[in-house]
Amino acid sequence: MPTQRRRSKHLRSARPLGSGHASSAAKADGRWIVRTVSGANAVKDYRCPGCDQLVRPGTPHVVVWPAEPVLGHSGGVEDRRHWHNSCWSRRR
Ligand SMILES: [Zn+2]
Repeated sequence: MPTQRRRSKHLRSARPLGSGHASSAAKADGRWIVRTVSGANAVKDYRCPGCDQLVRPGTPHVVVWPAEPVLGHSGGVEDRRHWHNSCWSRRR
């Protein structure tokens, strides 16, 4: 499987993270907005809260954040969590 390395960053970043699909999910602790991140858009290491392992760059995964603002949290980017797809689907 060939690795896709796109150097045309300017074309690619025209839509800031807008290519994923956002949906919401109900879990035991509330509702979450879930956005899928393609491997091409995963460019950093993230710590998956589900398994405490890294989500490696190039790994398709999901970004989740509370659907309703949580007291004491801004609801901003810093509240977002990156999960492996499998870990998120296992979460209750
Ligand atoms: Zn995980």
